[in-house]
Amino acid sequence: MARKMGVFSILAFVLYGLFFYWYLFHFSSSSLPFEYQGTSADPVTFMNGRELVLTEEYSKIRNLMFFLSSPWEWLFYILILLTGLNNCFKRWAEDATKRKFLRLPIYLFWLSFVGYLAVLPLSYISYSLSKTYNISTQTFPSWMKDELIDFWINYGMLLIIVPVLYFLLKKSPKRWWVFAWLLSVPFTLFMMFVQPVIIDPLYNDFYPLKDKELEAKILDFAAKAHIPAEHVYEVNMAEKTNAMNAYVTGIGSNSRIVLWDTTLNKLTDDQILFIMAHEMGHYVEKHLYIGIAGYLLLSLLGLYLVHTLMQQVLAKWGREAKIPSASDYRSLPLILLLLSMLMFISSPFSNVVSRYQEARADTYAINMTKDPRAGIGSFQQLTKAGLSQVNPPFLVKMFRYGHPTMLERISMLEEYELKHRED
Ligand SMILES: [Zn+2]
Repeated sequence: MARKMGVFSILAFVLYGLFFYWYLFHFSSSSLPFEYQGTSADPVTFMNGRELVLTEEYSKIRNLMFFLSSPWEWLFYILILLTGLNNCFKRWAEDATKRKFLRLPIYLFWLSFVGYLAVLPLSYISYSLSKTYNISTQTFPSWMKDELIDFWINYGMLLIIVPVLYFLLKKSPKRWWVFAWLLSVPFTLFMMFVQPVIIDPLYNDFYPLKDKELEAKILDFAAKAHIPAEHVYEVNMAEKTNAMNAYVTGIGSNSRIVLWDTTLNKLTDDQILFIMAHEMGHYVEKHLYIGIAGYLLLSLLGLYLVHTLMQQVLAKWGREAKIPSASDYRSLPLILLLLSMLMFISSPFSNVVSRYQEARADTYAINMTKDPRAGIGSFQQLTKAGLSQVNPPFLVKMFRYGHPTMLERISMLEEYELKHRED
C-alpha cells in the first residue's frame, strides 16, 4: 500500500509539472492587450530586442520553478514518510545517544539535513539560471555561504519550536493548536523585532546611506512623512545581484526602510525619491502591522486545520506513514507537509491583500512626489534589471505577485499624468 501511494504521489507530481509546463510555455500569453501597446507600460518602448527575448525565456523558466518548488517539498515529505526514512532518523537519534533530551535535536538535524539536500538541486538551478541571465552576480562560495546560513537558521528555529510543540501535543492532544498559537504571537513579534538587527546582518552589511547629498534629500522627504531619520538604511547587494529592491522591515524601534545599493546606483535621484515615497507609504500606513495581524489570524486558522487534517490523515493512513500517534515526533514531516500545503493554497489570498497595500503605496508615492515620469522610469528600470514580465499569466499573478503587475502600476501613473496634464 505504501509503495502504491508513493508511486501515485510521484505520478501526481509529474502530471502537475507537465500541466504547468504546458500552461506557462504553450497556453498562456504575456503579450499586452491592444490598448496598452505602445504605452510606457509596453516593454517594447524601453527594452531592446535581446532584453525582450531574455525576459520571456527567463520569466517562463522562473515561473515553472516557482510552481514546482512547493510540490517538490511535499513529495519529499510524503516519500520520507512512506519509505520509512523518517523512522530511520528516529532510530539514528536513539542509537547516537542514551540521553533522551538529545534525541529530538538529532532527529531534527537529520530531517532538516536530508530535506536541505532534497531542495538543494532546485536552489542551485535557480541560482545558476539567475547567473546565466546576468541577474545574480554572486560567486558560488558566497551563494553557498548564504545557503548554509539558511540551513542553520532554519535548524535553530526548529530547535526552539518543535520541543515546545510536542510538549503541547502530549499535554493537550485536543487543544494544542490554541496554545501553540498563543505562544506564537509573542514569538512572531519578537522575531519581527530582531530580524533587521540580528538575522538580516548575517547575510549582508547594512549602513546609513553613503551618498550624503541624496541622503539629505531623502531625509527631507522622510521628515514630511514624519519618519525619523535613523530609520533609513542602505544594504550592499551589488556583489550579489543586478536586480533592484527597497523594503520596509522590523517593528517598533527597529523598524526601518532599506534600499539596496543597486537601486541607488542605477536610478536617478528623482526615481529613487519615488521609490522612497512608496516605501514611506507602507511605513506611514502601517502595512507591516496589518500584515502581522493578518498573518497571526491566518496562522490560527492554519494550526486548527493542521490539527483536524492530521487526525484524519492518521486515522486513514497512519500505518502507511508509519506514525504511531500525533504526539510522537515522527509526525513532524506530516505537520510540515500540511503547513506547506496550506501556505501554498492561501497564498493567492495573502497576495490579494499585499497587492492592495502595494497599490496604496504607489498612490501615496504619486501624491507625495507628483512626479509620474520618475515613477514610470523607476518601474521600467526595475522591470529591465529583473527581466520581469510586465503582464504575467493569470495563475502566475495569483500565486506569485505580491505587487500589482508592472502593466497595472505603470498604467496607473500614466493615467495620473494624463489627468493632471488636462487640469
Ligand atoms: Zn511596496
